[in-house]
Amino acid sequence: MPDTPDAEPDWMALDRDHVWHPYSAMGTDAPLYPVVAASGVRLRLADGRELIDGMASWWCAIHGYNVPEINAALIAQLDTMAHVMFGGLTHPPAARLAARLAELTPAPLETVFFSDSGSVSVEVALKMAIQYWHARGKPRKQHFATLRSGYHGDTFGAMSVCDPVTGIHSLFNEILAKQYFTDSPSSRFGEPCSTADATALETLLAEQHDHLAALILEPVVQGAGGMRFYSADYLERARALCDEYGVLLICDEIATGFGRSGRLFACEHAGIAPDIMCLGKALTGGYLTLAATLTTADIAAAIREGSPGVFMHGPTFMGNPLACSAALASLQLLLDSPWQQRVANIERQLASGLAPCREFNSVAEVRTLGAIGVVELHEPVDMQRLPQQFVDAGVWIRPFGRLVYLMPPYIISTEDLAVLTTTVTRIISEL
Ligand SMILES: *Cc1c(COP(=O)(O)O)cnc(C)c1O
Repeated sequence: MPDTPDAEPDWMALDRDHVWHPYSAMGTDAPLYPVVAASGVRLRLADGRELIDGMASWWCAIHGYNVPEINAALIAQLDTMAHVMFGGLTHPPAARLAARLAELTPAPLETVFFSDSGSVSVEVALKMAIQYWHARGKPRKQHFATLRSGYHGDTFGAMSVCDPVTGIHSLFNEILAKQYFTDSPSSRFGEPCSTADATALETLLAEQHDHLAALILEPVVQGAGGMRFYSADYLERARALCDEYGVLLICDEIATGFGRSGRLFACEHAGIAPDIMCLGKALTGGYLTLAATLTTADIAAAIREGSPGVFMHGPTFMGNPLACSAALASLQLLLDSPWQQRVANIERQLASGLAPCREFNSVAEVRTLGAIGVVELHEPVDMQRLPQQFVDAGVWIRPFGRLVYLMPPYIISTEDLAVLTTTVTRIISEL
């Protein structure tokens, strides 16, 4: 049966019966919307309604949807070679993309390990750090320090360094690796690092460095663990403390990479370079799943010279040519665009457009950085009602917990962004 514009498409019943969605349960009546097309900043639902996208599909779709340049790159690659194994073989898209990423990221990062998702790139980063210290004769350095309120992915290694409360560590208590947590810095973005924040981190590194392979953190912007923006000065201190105590620094830029925070990479706010960096999400402009773990020539050399002399990881779809081609096209498009100007404009408009929310009793805080605007409420939102109210108002906004947030594609117009901020303001005013 063809989908008719005003009826629920027949395949929705198949979805309800058979498909898991992120952080969901089967057999509930949680609202779910059939989307049949997407172009620019608009998602088209099966009933013909169009929604202005406020989420960029979870940080990914920085250029919006159905982007002619990325479409063309993918079609050209498809006509050449969709995929080939990466063991013993290589191809132009992977080589060119790796060189491009090495060139764009802070100086000492030179080598690139491709994988299929952000979580896997974090696993790779953790394993690299452990193998590095093993090669350097310090096999006890197998644990990680991290910040509370962090989010690094859903696989076991990544989960072990996510916030223990929001990551529900108690549920996986027996199997999760025990890591070392310090409080999320209370020093805000734009402020110097407080002595208390610096001391807490220093105490942890001083006490545990014998066991620590690395400190892993999201630079400046903590994403899914709470959408917090912290002091760049703290990040600078963290870099210095890692050097002092012989602990590697892993920056998880999966959410922040490619301009979202106002800099191409969020670690640039602090003028630091990590030893290992994870990239994903916006890497392909939201087209295909691809992630990368970058590290320095020194770390790569140490791993080569240690035992077993190779890095022990190799995903089946490593360096997929289609995904690498999408990434190359997305990067070119980004760098050829006035993205700094666009992100700065979005930042200003989010700040002024969401400011009225500060007046509402339901609101704890409003904060913006780069193309990210967050309204933090006192109570968790009603996930049956609120998403539906947004859809009825013609916007796609998916809150979580106590957070209603916007992170639109960079190409959004002033008018469309105004619809997003006024809709958020109106709906929150009615809570
Ligand atoms: C989304 C995210 C991940 C996990 O990436 P997936 O592609 O979902 O596996 C890891 N770290 C950060 C900071 C993220 O935002």
